[in-house]
Amino acid sequence: MPCAARARNLRIFTKGVTEAVEKVGAIDDAIFAYSDLKEDFVYRRIPRERRSYYIECGIKAGREAAAKYRGADLSGILRSDGVTVRYFPGDVASGLHSQIYYDNKTKQIDIFLKTAERISSAMQGTPYPVTAEEASALFLAHEFYHFLEYSQGRYTDELCEPVRSKFLGIWNQTLKVRRTSEIAAFIFAKDFCRSAIHPKILDFALVASEKSQGFGWVLERIDRLRAEYYAECPAARGPQNKEE
Ligand SMILES: [Zn+2]
Repeated sequence: MPCAARARNLRIFTKGVTEAVEKVGAIDDAIFAYSDLKEDFVYRRIPRERRSYYIECGIKAGREAAAKYRGADLSGILRSDGVTVRYFPGDVASGLHSQIYYDNKTKQIDIFLKTAERISSAMQGTPYPVTAEEASALFLAHEFYHFLEYSQGRYTDELCEPVRSKFLGIWNQTLKVRRTSEIAAFIFAKDFCRSAIHPKILDFALVASEKSQGFGWVLERIDRLRAEYYAECPAARGPQNKEE
């Protein structure tokens, strides 16, 4: 396997959580993509009916790249391009996964192992246990996607149409939706690593453990996010929503 964080069989330990757990596994990636999109500087400038377009555009870019690199040796590709991957064992701010520097002088990816370990212990005892190695493989795949953008000059926000809006109500302007890049990088990592769940669920679990909360807190947060997504992105209303 190119990446250890592959899909797992569900480990259901009580009947009561079965339904909720299956819901998490089957949950639409668009809901997590929405949580990224709403952080974009231009989010409020995107017409409501166009929000789903940016979510889909980012997901499509990540998915296509994952299909192209399926089974590839990401570390080998990075090495041959002169990118150094550094694994930091030291303490870091909570939630800091990894970062990439890529320009003429520096080609480097940093992976923060402490975060991978924290995520692993936060996911222990949940239906989706993840080892620290699996979490750090997801981090690497995420940064690999950004490496593709930088090294090929093919940025996700340029693959998606810009937002057209009027500046001061007069001048037409076009605005790039930069968070499409994050949406794509998460989907690339998820698909490449064949993760059963969206990587953002790992972050939610990390926050839950810091709050001394269980997996139920994560499920509730996802439920709230889902409701917000349907309210904010009316074009996303599909068969899935009609059931609710
Ligand atoms: Zn990123």
